[in-house]
Amino acid sequence: MIDESSASPAKGCPTCGKSVDEKRYLPFCSARCKQVDLGRWFSGTYRVETNETPDDIQDKSSRD
Ligand SMILES: [Zn+2]
Repeated sequence: MIDESSASPAKGCPTCGKSVDEKRYLPFCSARCKQVDLGRWFSGTYRVETNETPDDIQDKSSRD
């Protein structure tokens, strides 16, 4: 299933689902949709990191 979608990158924009005419922003249809997807990815990662790192941060500061 996942292989199928990655084999057809011009299927549609992952963010809005539109057909991608501008190859420049593949697999997204525009720079805006690319930013939206990046923003989602970063906010998700950031949340996980802030949830898992407080212990690590304390350990580092006590060593330093
Ligand atoms: Zn789009």
